[in-house]
Amino acid sequence: MDFLTLFLIYLGFILTTVALLCVCSGRKESFLTRSVNGASQVLSFVIPTQLQRVTQRALHRLFHTRSCLFVALHVALQAAVYGEYTWEVFVYCWELQFHLLLLLLPYLLLAGNMGCFILCSRANPGIITKSNHASLVKIYAYDGVLFQKGVVCPTCNMEKPARSKHCSFCSMCVHRFDHHCVWVNNCIGAFNAKYFLLYLFSLAATAAAIATITAAFLIQVVLLSNMMHGSYIDEQGQERAVEILFLVQHLFLTFPRVVFMLGFVILLTLVLGAYCCFNLYLALTNRTSNEWYKSRRYRCSHHLTLQPHDRQVVYKNIYSKGVWMNLKEIFKPPTVLERKKTT
Ligand SMILES: [Zn+2]
Ligand SMILES: [Zn+2]
Repeated sequence: MDFLTLFLIYLGFILTTVALLCVCSGRKESFLTRSVNGASQVLSFVIPTQLQRVTQRALHRLFHTRSCLFVALHVALQAAVYGEYTWEVFVYCWELQFHLLLLLLPYLLLAGNMGCFILCSRANPGIITKSNHASLVKIYAYDGVLFQKGVVCPTCNMEKPARSKHCSFCSMCVHRFDHHCVWVNNCIGAFNAKYFLLYLFSLAATAAAIATITAAFLIQVVLLSNMMHGSYIDEQGQERAVEILFLVQHLFLTFPRVVFMLGFVILLTLVLGAYCCFNLYLALTNRTSNEWYKSRRYRCSHHLTLQPHDRQVVYKNIYSKGVWMNLKEIFKPPTVLERKKTT
């Protein structure tokens, strides 16, 4: 397989991963979803109705109902990365006398990540039932903008407590709803937000650790081979000094799977790092992804053609109690008793 073929496969894989991450961000009205809807409308003129129905049903099952597909994909990707790390990077690094503790770090992070994953996916996110509704409705005040008193969930047939939302994937109302995460196959709410935050940070740290060790290994290979000071004969038969592009191409052809994995984990580190920062910002300001998404509408209300009364609405986050207390709230969600004490 030549460099171009490998590079095209690699690019396709990266683009598919980015597309999957975008689709799975939990936003029904994401740019990608709108694009897919637009494309399907155009294709509906040429594709038979029967096939359209089957595709729609399959897409609905994949992206709008609870399924283990993304959990399986998650496990498969992790197994592929760790398989490659163990069979190639670990062995080469061990021969190059890398410190054992450094080489074992990704496994320790994996153990922590798996623990957080299990806790996050198995925990009750804050399901609102008839028995706990009366106490949950007293925990947060209605802000009158994003959450209005007296709004009833038509599916659960209960008044929606402030900060709650009905999840169409799980078909239930969730207390302090953040979003539905397909990667853990569970809603993220008041009671598992802490596990989700730890899960995200451990996953980003895992990707960053593997990326750093793999990059250190490849740099070591280049330094030991003294390739940087060498030269090569190009297609025109001229002698040229080795430059970065040549080095990347050489490494790609010598260690294709290692370089492929490095690109993937670097991409993951960047995407997860950015998502971790966003979630940390939400935690420190005591907002949920759902509230952040909804509040954007009110901030930009003067740009939109809304009803005249909507133009006057200014959103203010009434739930923030300072950075430290906000962070504490993620790890120790307030109960009715605590709220009574503070009021
Ligand atoms: Zn509901
Ligand atoms: Zn859900």
